Amino acid sequence: MRYSKYFIPTYKETPTEAEVISHQLMLRAGMIRKLTSGVYTFLPIGLKSVRKVENIIREEMNRSGGIEVLMPAVHPAELWKESGRWDFYGKELLRFRDRNNHEACLAPTHEEVITDLVRREIHSYKQLPVNFYQIQFKFRDEIRPRFGVMRCREFIMKDGYTFDIDEAGADKSYEIMRRTYSRIFQRCGLKFKVVEADSGSIGGSFSQEFMVLAETGEDQIVTCSKCEYAANMERAEVRWDVDRSSSSRESLKPLEEVQTPNMRTVEEVTSFLSISPQELVKTLIFKTDRQVVAALIRGDHEVNEVKLKNLLAADSVELADPGLVAEVTGAPMGFAGPVGLKVKMIADNALKGMANFVTGGNKEDVHFIHTNTERDFIVDQFADLRVIMPGDHCPRCRGELQFKRGIGHVFKLGTKYSKPLRAVYLDQNGEEKVIIMGTYGIGVARTVAAAIEQNHDQDGMIFPIPIAPFEVAVLPLQLYQSEVVAAAERIYTELLDQKIDVLLDDRDVRPGVKFKDADLLGTPLRITLSEKTVKEGKLEIKVRSERTVSLIPLASASAVIIQKVKDLYGSAE
Ligand SMILES: [Zn+2]
Repeated sequence: MRYSKYFIPTYKETPTEAEVISHQLMLRAGMIRKLTSGVYTFLPIGLKSVRKVENIIREEMNRSGGIEVLMPAVHPAELWKESGRWDFYGKELLRFRDRNNHEACLAPTHEEVITDLVRREIHSYKQLPVNFYQIQFKFRDEIRPRFGVMRCREFIMKDGYTFDIDEAGADKSYEIMRRTYSRIFQRCGLKFKVVEADSGSIGGSFSQEFMVLAETGEDQIVTCSKCEYAANMERAEVRWDVDRSSSSRESLKPLEEVQTPNMRTVEEVTSFLSISPQELVKTLIFKTDRQVVAALIRGDHEVNEVKLKNLLAADSVELADPGLVAEVTGAPMGFAGPVGLKVKMIADNALKGMANFVTGGNKEDVHFIHTNTERDFIVDQFADLRVIMPGDHCPRCRGELQFKRGIGHVFKLGTKYSKPLRAVYLDQNGEEKVIIMGTYGIGVARTVAAAIEQNHDQDGMIFPIPIAPFEVAVLPLQLYQSEVVAAAERIYTELLDQKIDVLLDDRDVRPGVKFKDADLLGTPLRITLSEKTVKEGKLEIKVRSERTVSLIPLASASAVIIQKVKDLYGSAE
């Protein structure tokens, strides 16, 4: 592809509406554009990535015995009433009436339609097992679509359905799909884990979810299992629940100094004093660009520095070094406490519910027991200061929170759909039996976004080669130099002849712009031809994920590049 004849509308600035890195980069690199809330157009390079993920899915599904079909997006209400989900599904199901006043919906999933097909077409054990799949648009009317294609209303999904004669067969089909999914995500270059999951509105007896792991926790998403609450982990509010702690109703005991020789960490102090971390308050000294503050937090909690920074309206927040800690508390690290402390004290909301807790003594080898707020020290401000964690409840509805980026979900359904829809078969003895089902989904565009979440730097995306929009970018730097242009054109043609997916940056723009865009687009291999290198009979080759640049002879360049592309595939799969 020639860049000048293609369509890659990039942004220089990070779009403000995008909260997570994949959304920011997909907008900036010209992969997607929003049409309306939770509904996106895939621009050419976004579509290329999506198609590559789809092809990997197809190859692996077909290899595992999957049979591709394509089902409609508009479903008649009758079918959903038959399964019982018309009433159960709630507002996420987009319902409407056609010109004949027939109720219908835009499909969020296809269990009903595939089961209807099977009950009409499959009647004998001889036709089973069977495994159907499709790659198609789905619609779920989310209250709060967010994070770009990570949580949107209209999305591309691969959904698959297995039909077996008995539980043993269904277990086998499930296991085959679980392994197939692992291969698919491996080939997409994703790091993931498989965890047991809630079956939600799909239902069934057992399900597992494929979740992507972010390099850092910062981009993790917290979602509510009951309502539509979803937040970036850094921003997720912690709901402080007064009835969760009963210790606040304890009568206050006198403050007491205890010797804690060399006991500095929460673990050391709590085991030494035989208490739980919930009975201890950590005092952490932070230095901002303007002041020194103490953050008080329960022993089993962690300070969320982003929340602290926002609360203090500071430009930067960092933990104090041992020197500053000693200066502020009069004690070495590990013994800081609020009693007698002279700096501003901010306490996490959880402290409101605590009484008679353990704190540092601001003296070496000393802690206090039975410390209490107001009596022993004054908190300047209570606030939500901590990192949300598993076990915390939804700040909106108290529902259970989930921490993840789900990209695939496998369910054992049993007879949840086949029974109400009467999908039955005749066994060897001519007896009628209900078919046992499994259902399996992959968010296709979500997989692309997840790959970006895991593979990027400050300059842009670093695509795993199997799903990169282009495998190679060729950058001729001086278009007024005919030797440079001729050499670039030759390499470009030779790579195309070898079926390499290559983008020739033939735009008449500054070299800096070409480098910036190549980095932003995350093309795995960058080939640069400049006046200087071409004169020496060479060109520059650089792998996006590596720092080093090497020079290779022009004459044999195509063969070297093709080999390098193969190597990148080898390390990705
Ligand atoms: Zn909730």
